[in-house]
Amino acid sequence: MATIAYVNGSFVPIRDAEVPIEDRGYQFADGIYEVCLYVRGRYLDLDGHLDRMERSLRELRIDAPMSRNALRVVMGQLVRRNRFKTALVYIQATRGVAPRNHAFPPAQTPPSLVMTTKPFDLDASDAIAAKGVGVITHPDIRWGRVDIKTVSLLPNVLAKQAAKEANAAEALLVRDGVVTEGSSSNAWIVDREGALITHPKGRQILGGITRETALACAADLQITVHERPFTVAEAKSAAEAFITSATNLVTPVVAIDGEAISAGAPGPVALRLREAYKLRAAGVTNRAP
Ligand code: PMP
Repeated sequence: MATIAYVNGSFVPIRDAEVPIEDRGYQFADGIYEVCLYVRGRYLDLDGHLDRMERSLRELRIDAPMSRNALRVVMGQLVRRNRFKTALVYIQATRGVAPRNHAFPPAQTPPSLVMTTKPFDLDASDAIAAKGVGVITHPDIRWGRVDIKTVSLLPNVLAKQAAKEANAAEALLVRDGVVTEGSSSNAWIVDREGALITHPKGRQILGGITRETALACAADLQITVHERPFTVAEAKSAAEAFITSATNLVTPVVAIDGEAISAGAPGPVALRLREAYKLRAAGVTNRAP
């Protein structure tokens, strides 16, 4: 259990960690977030996450709440103060606190910044990956800029709840028959030739940082990748399927809507990529000979 959170300049006990009700994150979901995995002394893919955070802020015209270096310091202190060895860190920045009014508040309104953390059990995650997970398909009813990592996550929340109620780990979001991504992950399949297929970046998916590193791993391992849309039917008849995110790393998918993928067991490509991802994200390269 986390004991300490960071709120607008202070580390505070979690029970005292509060923001004013006129925070625009609370009133309008007018803010962005990042989730990073910290494993034994270092953040995985930290630069990628901080790059994306800066991009999300720029796209929404929210001022950066602090410099990148200051952010790194606070992130490091937060896990140390909570004495976590392996943790997930959640960062949220909003357009600040102002009387409720849809248009932006005065330019001098400082953005809000909060960070929380919780322990992450990498062994438990490995055990889940070793068995694989089931997912469902669900309509993608999100807005037109899901490439921005905003805290406006209601369609994702509803999709994840639908998955939970179906005893599934994730919902694959479907628009016009195409799987865009998961409710909190990117979606991939492996075709019969062993090539990876994942939706291209653009406004219809969040460009996952884990997705980016997985692409680099695939290149290292000389695995062919097609960044193109794929249908639900293709996914269900794929050789393998898997999802990627900071919290899932690379997690094999063994069933979609209750229908087994291939033999209904994690595929070799997904498992190789998971291992390669862990090494690469930790700064160890695994270039093919
Ligand atoms: N898509 C969505 C909708 C997500 O919420 C996430 C998780 N933040 C991802 C993809 C994966 O992104 P990342 O690999 O950066 O965690």
